[in-house]
Amino acid sequence: MAKRNGQCYLFANWKMYLDYDDSNILANAIAAAKKKIPATVKMAVFPSALSLYPVGQVLGDVGISVGPQNVYWVDKGGYTGEVSAVMYKAAGCEYALVGHSERRLQMRENNHDVRQKTEAILAAGLTPVLCVGETKEEREDGKADTSIEIQLRSAFHEIVWPKDRELIVAYEPVWAVGTGLTCEPQEADRIHAGIKKMISLLVPNAEPVILYGGSVKADNVKSYLTGDNTSGVLVGGASTKLESWMEIVNSLE
Ligand code: PEP
Repeated sequence: MAKRNGQCYLFANWKMYLDYDDSNILANAIAAAKKKIPATVKMAVFPSALSLYPVGQVLGDVGISVGPQNVYWVDKGGYTGEVSAVMYKAAGCEYALVGHSERRLQMRENNHDVRQKTEAILAAGLTPVLCVGETKEEREDGKADTSIEIQLRSAFHEIVWPKDRELIVAYEPVWAVGTGLTCEPQEADRIHAGIKKMISLLVPNAEPVILYGGSVKADNVKSYLTGDNTSGVLVGGASTKLESWMEIVNSLE
């Protein structure tokens, strides 16, 4: 199922589910299964910071990209516990997640932090995967579109987008991430159309790639990918086991 530029994006966020050994075992299993993944699938994996380098070595050999789940916006210095975008770039990363709802909620990341991180990711030569989405309360109050618009404006207003750099946004309704609840595919695609429209105003020269994320599994992935405005999916829980990941891959055929 080819989507954008003949490719369907399947991005895997391993969150903090896998320790060092688990991550390496899964990376090796994915590398071994790579020939069963259609060439039209563009895959990237976001492991923990601890496992990123060895996982990147294994997956890089089979043409699968890696990236961090978070970055710090200063390149180097007295920032205990942080890792900069520049450091991840030097470690072989191509992408970086930014603004994931678990960081916005649990680590109190705000739109200003997300903007600084987005700029640092771009400056380091990485491609940001900006996560946006409304909370349950915002959806119930009819404020989903407004909430997403605020997040997009904050991340992209007057930003200088490097030529030829992909612009990727993952729409991840907060209430659907890790909950088993899912957004109706037509509604997700409607939101994606709105995100595209917004980006055409904020970053006119970019051609956005929009992913859906939120409890994607083998039995629902295709329903999202049929949307005209949807280029792929960002998968959390179901990407952390070879079996459920390959079920997703196989269900695309
Ligand atoms: C995510 O972490 O980006 C995500 C979408 O998680 P899950 O698939 O587990 O809902």
